[in-house]
Amino acid sequence: MRALICHAAQDLRLETTEVPELGEDQLLVRVAFGGICGSDLHYFQHGGFGTVRIKHPMALGHEVSGVVEAAGVQVRGIKPGQRIAISPSRPCGNCRFCQSGMQNQCLGMRFYGSAMPFPHIQGAFSEKLVIDASQAYPLADHLSLSEAALAEPLSVGLHAIQRAGGVLGKQVLVTGCGPIGSLLIGGLRRAGAARIVAADIADLPLTCARQMGADETINLRTQSEAMDKYKADKGQFDAVFEASGSEPALRVALDVIAPRGTLITVGLGGEIALPMNQIVAKEVDLRGTFRFHAEFATAVQFLNEGLVDGKPVITAVVPFERAVEAFTLAADKSQSLKVQIAFADASA
Ligand code: ZN
Repeated sequence: MRALICHAAQDLRLETTEVPELGEDQLLVRVAFGGICGSDLHYFQHGGFGTVRIKHPMALGHEVSGVVEAAGVQVRGIKPGQRIAISPSRPCGNCRFCQSGMQNQCLGMRFYGSAMPFPHIQGAFSEKLVIDASQAYPLADHLSLSEAALAEPLSVGLHAIQRAGGVLGKQVLVTGCGPIGSLLIGGLRRAGAARIVAADIADLPLTCARQMGADETINLRTQSEAMDKYKADKGQFDAVFEASGSEPALRVALDVIAPRGTLITVGLGGEIALPMNQIVAKEVDLRGTFRFHAEFATAVQFLNEGLVDGKPVITAVVPFERAVEAFTLAADKSQSLKVQIAFADASA
């Protein structure tokens, strides 16, 4: 089979690799669609992010769907032919975080396509995958395999909503409306947010944000004054989800968040300076959010039942043979939100 292997920055190759052996609790899957994520792009463009660097060749990718080809002898309930979304989260199950329900903080996590541990964890952009049966989530007949590959980024958004601790009836701002921010908006709608304002510095993501359920969109570059009304009386938003990872967005968030509001930082922003006086005086709850675990099942359920329609997020689908082209397209934020790779036989 072929896999998409990153050797270093700007060095991405389609290579022939061996299909791993099928274990008795495992499934052999023909991969259908794979979404290119921001972290995949960082590996491709810069060979990593922050202190994380690719030190040996690594297959990229962690947002995948597929069709089961074979099941190990111990697998129950999933048969060949089953269409599935694949969770890339593989916690150890034994560490103190797994034992207390914080699997996303697992000390032995083997998350697909991650150069954080060494040796690196190989990713899922390959024609075939052998997965643990517990990673497989069956799809409803009407849900396309392309949409199913959005379960992972939707899970990230749903975990962020969990971290906010309840948004029912709240006025919410989302800054940064790429695939994660936009899918998060779809989740917020389902979680009962009363009013959702979406902000970005480009129009393409804002159009998507509106399709995903935002009530108002603000382009911070061309209509920054539109945010002024939300600064009144110490700030108007009960919760802000900062999904851009940029310092200016975080500063806007602190200007418009209400006292005792919750600021969830979804974007990885590196090292940036914060106006601590605002955080202190407004008693802002500043909370990080990282990946997901149990939310993957919820994401698949929302997609299966049509409660979140992720289609507006997908801006291009590119054949596997042109995967390097797909990465270049995904890096062009003026025309791309989620770019997906279609693997061989993806129509099945
Ligand atoms: Zn663990």
